[in-house]
Amino acid sequence: MDTKKEENSLILISKNFLIGLKTTLGTFFKKPVTFQYPKERLRLTENFRGFPKLNINKDKSLRCVACMLCQTVCPSEAIKINSGYVDYGNEHELTERQKHNHSLDKIASGVVNDGRRHPESFEIDLLRCICCGYCEEICPEEAISMSDKFEFGFYTRDEGIFGIDKLIEL
Ligand code: SF4
Ligand code: SF4
Repeated sequence: MDTKKEENSLILISKNFLIGLKTTLGTFFKKPVTFQYPKERLRLTENFRGFPKLNINKDKSLRCVACMLCQTVCPSEAIKINSGYVDYGNEHELTERQKHNHSLDKIASGVVNDGRRHPESFEIDLLRCICCGYCEEICPEEAISMSDKFEFGFYTRDEGIFGIDKLIEL
């Protein structure tokens, strides 16, 4: 390499070094843009969509009437509903799920015939869900809505399937 070329490459290296140094010093005293996750957490926007959750009435009964619309519209086939039964108040032994669908107060007072269908089981596979919000949009009962929960870890695929009890708590 001749002397002229060596000089040029030295100038180029020094120039790039100074540009880098300028960037470093320029940001050194600024507040970091990164978070110390999980101690520090991002403030989510109001319209942030986490995973869907199931909503309940004030008396703790399920709002869902097992109309299947959300299952039908879900683009990733993450929702699986067993529509179960329509309670017309006929005499029968209530299953555990049926008891869950009606508030304990209603059961105690014998008023369990709301004439609405309820899901016997309602599952969402969080590993399939893409948090698109279609289920919330289509639901005629406001029975499902997007929560702000999005941080989950699973060891098996089955752990990612949330049933009614877990979906209510999201
Ligand atoms: S948010 Fe979208 S992908 Fe997730 S369960 Fe609802 S419809 Fe399916
Ligand atoms: S959550 Fe809403 S859309 Fe889905 S089955 Fe229940 S009532 Fe229908």
